[in-house]
Parts: sequence; structure tokens; C-alpha cells
Amino acid sequence: MTIKAFVIGHPIAHSRSPLIHGQWLVEHGIDGSYEAIDVAPEALPGFFERLRSGEFAGGNVTIPHKEAVFALCDSVDPLATTIGAVNTLVVRDGKVHGSNTDYLGFLGNLDAATPGWSDGPNDAMIIGAGGAARAILVALRRRDGGKVHVLNRTLEKAQALVAEIDGPFEAHGFDAFPQLAAHTGLVVNTSAIGMHGSRFDWLDFALLPKATLVTDIVYTPLVTPLLADAAAHGLRTVDGLGMLLHQAVPGFEAWFGVRPSVTPALRARIEATLEH
Ligand code: NAP
Repeated sequence: MTIKAFVIGHPIAHSRSPLIHGQWLVEHGIDGSYEAIDVAPEALPGFFERLRSGEFAGGNVTIPHKEAVFALCDSVDPLATTIGAVNTLVVRDGKVHGSNTDYLGFLGNLDAATPGWSDGPNDAMIIGAGGAARAILVALRRRDGGKVHVLNRTLEKAQALVAEIDGPFEAHGFDAFPQLAAHTGLVVNTSAIGMHGSRFDWLDFALLPKATLVTDIVYTPLVTPLLADAAAHGLRTVDGLGMLLHQAVPGFEAWFGVRPSVTPALRARIEATLEH
């Protein structure tokens, strides 16, 4: 019997998930499908009834449904509750379980690109305090090491975030960068800075240790202004596309029973669909 999975969103045409899972299905010779389904917010409860009927093994959830599905799932992973978003659904015996794999995608990307990235006592710096920053905080509290500093344009939002999630976290405005830089081993951008021509004019790369790893979870463009500037200063960089690819691994494994690999060929295929 064909095993079916999906990604739901509204709109959904932009999603690259069907390409990722489609390639893995072919690679592993699995009798399965992964389709993009446009589900309007008012149709979400009806879609969950369809799920409980057993038509699908599960699927992904994207904008605007990542919060709304909490109320519809039969159970939700505690980490997804901490992150405040569900991006993966698994159906077993007519019950729908929700989880969030973004933090695993972030860790998987860095582990694959720069093994040993979390070694050492240095602090980490997260720029931005929105929805994506929550997943990165959950990821980084699993590593050994120093503090995690959250720098945000709106200080109050950074303060609210670190108050909500347990961990060695501190909130700051951008003006704290010069005093924090010398102890920083990892810089993660989760903010929209760098998109639409905006720049990090307050970030002086010369103040960071030469071994600092700089990563951006924004992957359009693939080489963001942050990554370009960091590389120009001789710092190590990792782009955000790998996070998208790695976050897909646990879902595929749960639905189709095989753990897939993020290969250079898969990455090249998805990279070819990005605007340069
Ligand atoms: P969000 O909740 O809207 O948060 C946006 C953040 O950006 C806020 O901290 C906001 O600061 C800051 N910001 C926006 N414009 C700014 C500006 N001009 N100057 C300074 N700060 C600015 O967004 P999100 O859900 O966290 O998503 C952020 C990005 O991550 C998106 O581009 C998304 O595509 C990407 N993402 C990638 C992956 C992946 O797999 N690679 C996964 C998830 C998300 P204020 O609080 O001051 O407004």
C-alpha cells in the first residue's frame, strides 16, 4: 500500500519540501508520496478529521498553521510547546502527534558542516528574538559551553524570550555587541536583517575571535550579507539551507521507516531552486 505524506500551508506552492521528500522516496525505492496541500485556516479542523481516518502517515505544517495545530493534535511534544510551533505531524492508530524538528535541523546542519562546532567554553550570540530564535535557544541549551546571548532590536522581546525558556540565556540590545564579542564562539542570525538590502551596521566582525563560527538561518539569498561579511573577515560560515534539509529527516523517518541522508546532490537540487 502506498504510504502518503504531505505538507499543509496557505499558500503552499512555494514549499520545497515536496522536492526534498520526493528525492528521498526515489532514492530509497519507497512506494510512497509526499504532496503539497493548500489548506485554508477554516478548513484545518476538517483536514484533521481526514488525518484521523488514516489516509496519511503524517506530514509537515507550515505558515500559517504552525500554532493553530496545537489545539487540534491529540498530543504534542513538550519541546514543540516550548518552541511555540508544530512543524511535523505523525498519525498512529487514528491519533495525531505534533512535534517540532527545526531545532534538530539547526543542530544537524552545524554538525554536518563543522564537526566539533560546539566544543569549547565560548558563548553563543543569537540575533533576533522571533519564532525562529525560540527553536535555536532550545537547540543551543543542549550543547555544552557558555552563555547564550540574545540580541534584538526590541530589547523587551529578547527579555520576554529568555524569561520564558529555561537555560543560560541573557537578553541585550544591539549595543551590547562590542562588550560580548571577544567571548563569542558562535553567531546565529535569526532576524530579518540582511533581507531587502538591510545590513548589520552595528556588527564589527573585527571584534570576534578568528575561530568564531557565523551562521544565518535565512537562506534566501543563500549567501546573506552577514555570511559574506563574516567570510570577508576570515571567519567560518555555514548557510541556512542545510537547516531546512536536516529538519526534514526525522519526519521522513517517522512516516516511511527509513532515515534519509542529506547528500550534496540533494542540496544542489534544492539550491538550484533558490533565487540568486
Ligand atoms: P519573526 O518571528 O518575524 O522575527 C523576526 C525578527 O527579526 C525579530 O527579532 C525582529 O526584531 C527582527 N527584525 C526584523 N526586521 C528587522 C530590522 N530591520 N532590523 C532589526 N531587526 C529586525 O520571524 P521568524 O519566524 O523568527 O523567522 C526569521 C527568519 O528565519 C525568516 O526569514 C525565516 O524564513 C527563517 N527561518 C529559516 C529556517 C530554516 O530552516 N533555515 C527555519 C525557520 C525560519 P523585533 O523584535 O525588534 O521586531
